[in-house]
Amino acid sequence: MLDKAPNGKVSDLLSALDKALCAGEVEHAVDLFQADCYWRDLVTFTWNIKTMEGKDQVRDMLKARLADTKPSNWKIADGEDASEADGITESWIQFETAVARGFGHMRLKDGRIWTLLTTMSELKGHEEPLGFDRPMGAKHGAERDRTTWKEDREAETAELGYARQPYCVIVGGGQGGIALGARLRQLNVPTIIVEKNERPGDSWRKRYKSLCLHDPVWYDHLPYLPFPRNWPVFSPKDKIGDWLEMYTKVMELNYWGSTECKKASYDENSREWTVVVQRDGQEIVLKPKQLVLATGMSAKANMPKFEGMDIFKGDQHHSSQHPGPDKYKNKKAVVIGSNNSAHDICAALWEAGADVTMVQRSTTHIVRSDSLMELGLAALYSEQAVQSGMTTAKADLIFASLPYKILHEFQIPVYNAIRERDADFYKRLEKAGFLLDYGDDESGLFMKYLRRGSGYYIDVGASELIANGSIKLKSGVDVQRLTEHSVILSDGTELPADLVVYATGYGSMNGFAADLISGEAADKVGKVWGLGSNTSKDPGPWEGEQRNMWKPTQQEALWFHGGNLHQSRHYSQFLSLQLKARMEGIPTPVYGVQKVHHLG
Ligand SMILES: Cc1cc2nc3c(=O)[nH]c(=O)nc-3n(C[C@H](O)[C@H](O)[C@H](O)COP(=O)(O)OP(=O)(O)OC[C@H]3O[C@@H](n4cnc5c(N)ncnc54)[C@H](O)[C@@H]3O)c2cc1C
Repeated sequence: MLDKAPNGKVSDLLSALDKALCAGEVEHAVDLFQADCYWRDLVTFTWNIKTMEGKDQVRDMLKARLADTKPSNWKIADGEDASEADGITESWIQFETAVARGFGHMRLKDGRIWTLLTTMSELKGHEEPLGFDRPMGAKHGAERDRTTWKEDREAETAELGYARQPYCVIVGGGQGGIALGARLRQLNVPTIIVEKNERPGDSWRKRYKSLCLHDPVWYDHLPYLPFPRNWPVFSPKDKIGDWLEMYTKVMELNYWGSTECKKASYDENSREWTVVVQRDGQEIVLKPKQLVLATGMSAKANMPKFEGMDIFKGDQHHSSQHPGPDKYKNKKAVVIGSNNSAHDICAALWEAGADVTMVQRSTTHIVRSDSLMELGLAALYSEQAVQSGMTTAKADLIFASLPYKILHEFQIPVYNAIRERDADFYKRLEKAGFLLDYGDDESGLFMKYLRRGSGYYIDVGASELIANGSIKLKSGVDVQRLTEHSVILSDGTELPADLVVYATGYGSMNGFAADLISGEAADKVGKVWGLGSNTSKDPGPWEGEQRNMWKPTQQEALWFHGGNLHQSRHYSQFLSLQLKARMEGIPTPVYGVQKVHHLG
């Protein structure tokens, strides 16, 4: 029997909220929240990505935004029922604002709102042409001089960027730029994606030979076009490259391959960008109103500088340039670093018959892929989740509904369980000298990713090679210098080397703003990524959302987009709606643009 009591509780609360908000009674609305409440808004009230923490912040936001937003029609989402467990009542909800339809999620504790997620689904009057509204495609009837779909596409391709300017230019045509481009296409926002590689997918193809996605397929779908059900759990890099290329084509994106963005500047008076690109050797100037940097958060290589690199006679390169192991059979390889790329590269070199040493300079979080899938992701992103009716959209929203401020509290028990389950594995790694951590507050991989985007390896086999000594390990040391044929470590050890790979990570996307726009513009927007958690590599103060990602920055009309496949899929929705609203002239007063606390 369906328990209707939770529905009643949620409906009562929503009608009280509706009444208070419609009447402009901010205090009454705030009274419906718990003292320790969180309201995460993705664009509906704030035209921003923002979490209000506690009643005071909710009050401030409502005072600033309620009159414009005009929310109404709050109810349990169509076809959904509220549920109750462990004293928490939760429900999918829907509502409207003056300009948009919204969908969200709510958790009640003791009859009051504990967490509220409000997200924009669509702008009224600018809905995507879906379902009943899908395009006809064919033009039935008879018409003189009619053009075909192909001719129309060719005409658009020839015209956009030349005779007609795009509203938006996306720099970077990796999966981030492509996913956003697909959303903007559906919203009819003229967009060009410029990509310096020749073909969509090349940013994956060019990575080291052995790379397969570390995240499973259920987490990785692109918008609109999920992977088929027979798609492998972990996509090999070239296969994902082909999927992206196919996707770009069938989603009809205006994708300029072999096109490098050289520089960009913003005219505050005309509120227009001048974007200089080199397309197949020819300079073209684009004049979009909006500029999105989707240049990759794992793309700006951190290349260390060690004494002696100039005299080293072997091969040396950053992990992003590593071609793969084929040339290195029976050679001596030293890999500097101990995160994902370092492990993958070491394992592939070992498989190819190289003599490999990993140099671990600081602690690393390791989580076995199986354990992560079963304990970390299964509830939302797994075949079991699919079988039990979980959709990708719902999984994304449930994930988004957990406020960052307390996300670690949900993560710590997961990683404690993983530690217990894999205790022997961790013991063996430590015995081999590997320096482990589980995140500053033991909250594991995902928090590390959100906070600093580095510091971990999802183990798909390399850890065993380290534990059993097949991959040699030097830990707790740094590189002191290189000689012609070796790497000298800070403890005096000399490692003979034919190859040195610097798996030393990537810099902030802010660096792309500095390169393409100016140092001043980069400083104006500040650091990209991180939450302000005051943990390693994520300095405080607490900012509550990922810095500068998918939301307005201190530089008008400049946006950053990217992250893993899940984030690109999910947040491209909200970035595309922000851009569409601006194109349509819908007022978008941004509440609480983040302050800049850190430069790139
Ligand atoms: C080894 C490794 C493993 C990873 N595994 C996973 C995984 O399993 N799952 C996952 O979701 N993510 C993974 N990632 C993260 C991965 O980087 C991102 O998911 C993905 O590549 C990000 O896509 P993106 O479009 O934001 O950036 P990228 O794929 O890096 O694309 C950025 C693009 O911008 C282009 N570009 C840069 N500057 C310019 C310019 N001036 N003009 C024109 N074009 C320019 C680049 O050529 C590049 O193609 C991994 C990363 C690495 C390095």
